[in-house]
Amino acid sequence: MSAVSSPGSFTTEDYASRMSRAADAAARAGLTGLLVTPGPDLQYFAGYAPIAITERITMLAIQAGRKPAMIVPVIERSDAEAAPGAGALSMAEWTDGQDPYAATAELLDPDGRYAISDSAWAMHVLGLQERLPGSTYVSVTSALPMLRAVKDGDELALLASGAAALDAAFHDLLRIRFSGRSELDVASDLADLLREHGHSEVEFTLVGSGPNGANPHHQVSCREIEQGDMVVLDFGGIKGGYASDITRTVHVGEPTDDEREVYEVVSRAYTAGLEAVRPGAACQEIDRAARRLITDAGYGDRFIHRAGHGIGLMGHEPPYMVEGETSALEPGMCFSIEPGIYLPGRFGVRIEDIVTVTEDGGRSLNSTGHELQIVS
Ligand code: ZN
Ligand code: ZN
Ligand code: ZN
Repeated sequence: MSAVSSPGSFTTEDYASRMSRAADAAARAGLTGLLVTPGPDLQYFAGYAPIAITERITMLAIQAGRKPAMIVPVIERSDAEAAPGAGALSMAEWTDGQDPYAATAELLDPDGRYAISDSAWAMHVLGLQERLPGSTYVSVTSALPMLRAVKDGDELALLASGAAALDAAFHDLLRIRFSGRSELDVASDLADLLREHGHSEVEFTLVGSGPNGANPHHQVSCREIEQGDMVVLDFGGIKGGYASDITRTVHVGEPTDDEREVYEVVSRAYTAGLEAVRPGAACQEIDRAARRLITDAGYGDRFIHRAGHGIGLMGHEPPYMVEGETSALEPGMCFSIEPGIYLPGRFGVRIEDIVTVTEDGGRSLNSTGHELQIVS
């Protein structure tokens, strides 16, 4: 068993400063600290991704006023020590046959109030609670949602490189044949293109042709694509350790005036969303700006999802561009803007770019234009 290397060229100092920021944020939120288990949080704070997430507990405790400490199964200690963040923390271990919760409890405050990774195993939380009856736990996403939301320059470069790869894949895809082939065929071409353009993982290749495009969660089917179909293409994966995500809608042959009109509304809604992006704006303002345009065009009840989601080590993470999310945007945050109109029995249109908040507005990481592309 060996560890997956962490993305990018982040240094021990990068991880140290992420952990110290998190300790401060936890203290400000009235928490003793943050308990991090394998998954995106552990990758973010320690650059450590055990290749197999098993029943054996691995946990990083980040607490204000103390050096971060990570406990690992002894058999994985050498992997953990090779992680780039390991130099910024102290390492403890436990061995099979020992009580792992008693060993972990030694790192913690018996009456501590901790934010814990969403992906922590329930059995580990319950084990700790039994050992430390005075301790309490809340989910990190509910207590400290924005911990990973502001990206640094290296993270931004990785997200931009993922976006550029998807732009290139889409560009190549425009040359393939759609009509007479199934959605599955096109999805498989798309997956090949993503790998060709440097993706280590292809996570989704949604192809929604004709009426299937009216279901925003339609994955792919054996439906044969026909002349006259709108086709929603939503695809992405992992490149350089960071997630990628894009949606473009194309048309097979000449579209009708109706189809063009719906497409234009979605395109303008995207632009309205982007124009609303600026430091200090509440996340919900992005959703409202895009939605207002669609509502004014008479399709308000056909835009049936939030306007966007944050992206980073995970494809979906805070901040969410949704009504009720009043958190303020900050420079360096990265998220999708992806308005859509879904007409049951007919077709759907969605356009999605990844954008980042700049010092004075918002900028798309994608370079592919939004004009309706005609495919054959
Ligand atoms: Zn059509
Ligand atoms: Zn998408
Ligand atoms: Zn998305």
